[in-house]
Amino acid sequence: MCLLFRTPITVVHIDFLIFLCCHVVMTNTENLETPLALAADKDWLQGVRRVPSPNLDARVADTVIDSIVIHGISLPPKTYGGPYIEHLFTNQLDCNAHPYFLEISNHRVSAHVLIDRTGQITQFVPFSARARHAGVSVFQGRPDCNEYSIGIELEGCDDEAYEQRQYEILAKLVRILRQQWPAITPERIVGHSDIAPDRKTDPGPAFDWDYFFSLIG
Ligand SMILES: [Zn+2]
Repeated sequence: MCLLFRTPITVVHIDFLIFLCCHVVMTNTENLETPLALAADKDWLQGVRRVPSPNLDARVADTVIDSIVIHGISLPPKTYGGPYIEHLFTNQLDCNAHPYFLEISNHRVSAHVLIDRTGQITQFVPFSARARHAGVSVFQGRPDCNEYSIGIELEGCDDEAYEQRQYEILAKLVRILRQQWPAITPERIVGHSDIAPDRKTDPGPAFDWDYFFSLIG
């Protein structure tokens, strides 16, 4: 009601803000409700933003993809929403943009997929290729997890709850990956900290594994 007493300029401004808010909600809802699927080549997700990373390697012929490694990442640490993860995975990180970037700007790393805080997915590496996400790692006595796994990054940090949207999109993604690569049993979905416990802590205690497993059934 108080809008009646505002100036026309203010009313227009409020209308514009309402438009922006609706647009943001629609964008997120659209992402949650759009069926996620692999493209025909099985290498990329259909309808998902692609930012090809040069940081990849060929898998050894006949390697069976049988694992998923879940990570948490934020750049700078505990800061969300910037372009820096994408810049890191495409070797464009400006080491002058933040002191922490000096330590990592020469890392030639990647993951197959990033799920940001809003649930938006970006794919960097085709699934048939090795992404460079696990580093020195061992799972059930077998080294080099990059060879046989898919790496999924969640934008986040170890001690801050991940977003509901991220769990929902992650669960959808894992379901379609398991349909394509059925050797990925729930027991073979692990955190980076599980396969490189001396070096890595992500996705951290903030990641609710019980809830995640309840979503993937
Ligand atoms: Zn990690």
